[in-house]
Amino acid sequence: MKAPAAIAGSLLALQLAGCATVPDDEARMQAAARDAAAAMQSVGETMQAVSAEPADPLEADAPDTMRWLYGSGEAAGASIQTYRALIDFAVAKARQRSIPQSVVMGLPESDNGLSQASCMDGSRLKPLAVIFDVDETVLLNLGAEYDQAVRGAGFDPDRWDAWERSGGVAIAPVPGAVTALRELRDAGITPIFNTNRNARNAVDTEQALNAAGLGPARHGETLFLKGDDASGSAKDLRRAAIAKNYCVIALAGDNLGDFADRFNDPELSVQDRRRLAGRGEYAALWGNGWFLLPNPVYGASIKGTIGEVFPPDARWQPDTTSESD
Ligand SMILES: [Mg+2]
Repeated sequence: MKAPAAIAGSLLALQLAGCATVPDDEARMQAAARDAAAAMQSVGETMQAVSAEPADPLEADAPDTMRWLYGSGEAAGASIQTYRALIDFAVAKARQRSIPQSVVMGLPESDNGLSQASCMDGSRLKPLAVIFDVDETVLLNLGAEYDQAVRGAGFDPDRWDAWERSGGVAIAPVPGAVTALRELRDAGITPIFNTNRNARNAVDTEQALNAAGLGPARHGETLFLKGDDASGSAKDLRRAAIAKNYCVIALAGDNLGDFADRFNDPELSVQDRRRLAGRGEYAALWGNGWFLLPNPVYGASIKGTIGEVFPPDARWQPDTTSESD
């Protein structure tokens, strides 16, 4: 740091000036004093700048949601629990002699956004499959979330695209996923990935899935991506394409859109979306063909103002007007 050296130099000049025997050196003493004062100010500013700089960014607290999903044993337990239930369900289903129809799922041109596809190809049962979303369902995007956390910034589509193209670095399988996919394959059930990663990065996504021990994944066969059809991020059309060739016995995802596009209708309020998923015929599907992985970090599940999340009958605060005894 230059400022302390400048101070030392100026103080030395001041001392020398003080020792000088020549009376007309008073001007030099004043100049040295001014230098010393300026140096002190400079040090002050430097120290202020240093203290305003963030400490080591790795020492800062990670966002709560990331701490939970990527750092906690609770999240690992929740994921493994979901995957164990999925294996039990799918393997039991595969043992059934007859599976006339797929699990209920979002399909295009169905009455309420949900329907079933035939599992029969003529008199033959189609091969069995389970459809998985990718991000935060089978694959944890550790590197991309680290980048967001350390920058303290929101989602950046260009950085995400670079992340998709990065292939298989700084990733991990969701706890329980590798075992589940292996057990499904051993039972003759094909895992098929239906993700909103971009079709132009198909090779990189195949590579990431393979690197995480989740593959094989082959675009157009066992991997379906945004851009495969004209419906953008919607997944119903892709589900229909998969169901043409497979008998889909279960679905897994971290977003309701991984089960049916209907849930992501932007017209649905926060509470209506929750009610739709949690009641009636849809409620019966959870753990019974539909399997949800936790993701509090991003996505449609974490929308909502305080007023939307807490409707009037969910509000309470202590009465601070009464005297305590
Ligand atoms: Mg996802």
